[in-house]
Amino acid sequence: MKKYIGCDLGGTNLRAAIVDVENGSVLHQMSIPCLAREGHDAVMRRMADLFLQVIQSAGMKKEDIGGIGIGAPGVLDLEKGETLFLPNLHGTWPHVPLRDTIRKLTGLPTALLNDVRSITNGEWRFGAGRGVDTIAVFAIGTGIGGGLVINGQLHLGIGGTGGELGHITIDFNGPRCGCGKYGCLEAYASGPAIAAMGMKAVSQGLTTCIADLCEYDLNRITPELIARAARTGDEIAIDIYEKAGFYLGVTAANVCVALGPRRIIIGGGVAQAGDLLLEPIRRTLRERVSVMPIEQVEVVQSQLGDNAGVIGVACWVAKES
Ligand SMILES: [Zn+2]
Repeated sequence: MKKYIGCDLGGTNLRAAIVDVENGSVLHQMSIPCLAREGHDAVMRRMADLFLQVIQSAGMKKEDIGGIGIGAPGVLDLEKGETLFLPNLHGTWPHVPLRDTIRKLTGLPTALLNDVRSITNGEWRFGAGRGVDTIAVFAIGTGIGGGLVINGQLHLGIGGTGGELGHITIDFNGPRCGCGKYGCLEAYASGPAIAAMGMKAVSQGLTTCIADLCEYDLNRITPELIARAARTGDEIAIDIYEKAGFYLGVTAANVCVALGPRRIIIGGGVAQAGDLLLEPIRRTLRERVSVMPIEQVEVVQSQLGDNAGVIGVACWVAKES
């Protein structure tokens, strides 16, 4: 049985993993700096070298590899195999023929997928979404990515652009979002949005141990620090997670009435807060949804951590090639 390479193309690092798609295990992996400033041609050459290196250092041959899946952080055209807009990479990669370039440089079948759709596929096949046919994934970090599996299929939509759950509007008159539009979930419940609530509380002079934990340096306030404060019983910190969970819950409620998912999976760094974040999401769902059996919808934390994306995109290319 051939193995597959899953690649995570990040703004900072390039990661390549050899994955056994039968059981979702990562057999071997390597990571190098992306050096995105050098431009897309240089990055693609470095990617191709990395793939050939990871095969060699795993003691394998090119013939042992069935294909390469690349998870890319942004908007893609899956039909043409091009990147359209990668906001975190220098030059944003408009119409870069990533799939065919890697195919040519390595001689291996190659497929692209958005990074959070890769995570969604990984969690569905081998993580928190195992065994059910419809799931919604929210990946909360610097932004909020999303992905859907509907009726046993990773949902793609036009060119793979479907499933951007972080950009569902939750306030018509809301603040500007990273996507350039207004009032998206991401502007309310992303890592920076949660940190900003902590900064505001401290600069308002509210009584909260967030101030002590950051030693009155607002730049040190992170979602993780606020979660630590909340675990000591700090009311302001608990309230911040209640608010973020409420916004996520309202969005998840909309997704529930649209899709009737079995499971809502919360991933990304911010999900480390666990029940601090998950409980208000569950409560909001119960309060807001009556037209489908909301008590049957499970809200759970992701399981595969950093490996979800490389596993998911390796499974994706195994199915496509
Ligand atoms: Zn947005």
